[in-house]
Amino acid sequence: MTVFEDVESQVRSYCRSWPVVFDTARGSRITDVDGKSYLDFFAGAGALNYGHNPPALKKPLIEYLARDGITHGLDMFTSAKEEFLRTFREVVLEPRGLDYKVQFPGPTGANTVEAALKLARKISGREAMINFTNAFHGMTLGALSVTGNSMKRGGAGVPLVHATPMPYDNYFDGTVPDFLLLEKLLADSGSGLNEPAGIIVETVQGEGGINPARVEWLQALADLCRRHEILLIVDDVQMGVGRTGPFFSFEIAGIQPDIVCLSKSISGYGLPMALTLIKPEYDQWGPGEHNGTFRGNNPAFVTATAALNEYWRDDALERATIAKGEKVEAALTELAAASSAVELTPKGRGLARGLQFGQPELAAKVCAAAFERGLLMETSGPSDEVMKIMPPLTVTDAELDEGLAIVADSVRAVTE
Ligand code: PMP
Repeated sequence: MTVFEDVESQVRSYCRSWPVVFDTARGSRITDVDGKSYLDFFAGAGALNYGHNPPALKKPLIEYLARDGITHGLDMFTSAKEEFLRTFREVVLEPRGLDYKVQFPGPTGANTVEAALKLARKISGREAMINFTNAFHGMTLGALSVTGNSMKRGGAGVPLVHATPMPYDNYFDGTVPDFLLLEKLLADSGSGLNEPAGIIVETVQGEGGINPARVEWLQALADLCRRHEILLIVDDVQMGVGRTGPFFSFEIAGIQPDIVCLSKSISGYGLPMALTLIKPEYDQWGPGEHNGTFRGNNPAFVTATAALNEYWRDDALERATIAKGEKVEAALTELAAASSAVELTPKGRGLARGLQFGQPELAAKVCAAAFERGLLMETSGPSDEVMKIMPPLTVTDAELDEGLAIVADSVRAVTE
């Protein structure tokens, strides 16, 4: 029995795509125990925007541990927390003219979504939420309730939060006027939808199949929320921290959500960390109303602070991400044009890119072919019909070319 089979027999591990045991990683490359190296265009589903073990974050982390910096500090203010909060305000919020209170709701993306939903209900005194078709917000019961894909509920039954899904941008191929139905339902006291607590949205749906909402659609949504006094929650867990270019994915629309959910790449080092950003007037938590043991992990504060200093004091990373995203888009467009047997549709924004397959089962086959050729990618979308291309933002041009050549080769091997 191989090591892998032995491990598989003991745990419900999530290793269907890549049947090897991984060991070390640096930048955009990851190596298995047999010494085979792979390009990582999965990047922890957006948790490794600066790649594996980025040196500028590793050094301060090692130094912090070497001087016995506090790792766990429940209910304590620590120097690492203080420095992160100061740096976040100075580097991220102030230059963008944003004012948010920062909550540490727990270690994961689902934790920040739960905090956002609870807070929206507390602030508004209302219960219902509006979410979108194909949305994904996490696997806890509240977050699942606003997840658009009912298959993801895994038999968990009736949603805990009453949520009504509305069509996401272009869900009906642009044939339904934006928000017309929602406006009518909100205005109708008999609809049951006239008093929602909040609307939760991703600006680009990651797990839903790399679906970008148009800027005008996001602006119309923010306008609708303002007119109807509905709290706007942007879930930037996967698309935030630069994945689409700017630090926050909603910046391109010039909107200011009432609550923002961040996680995945905020620690910058793959360490668990999540933030709920709350407009100051909505910070209405009472003491102890939303707490937990692992709120705010100090080593993660250290790497998060180093990441902000290293990557967000100028716009070099943002510009590079947009340029690299255009390069991926061009390569995918070329592939799509050359494919006669299968319809291929490139999608995405920044370095959140996807290739949708007219025959859904082919997406996973192409990912498997790419794995054989030394490239890691995963699928997303309601039928897993979209191959996700999400390299670290720090991927070099040479690595990007190498990965895109494997993508093209794999697509051709499977579709021709
Ligand atoms: N929101 C979005 C948009 C996500 O993509 C995810 C994870 N893929 C989550 C929330 C949940 O995050 P986590 O898995 O860390 O709980």
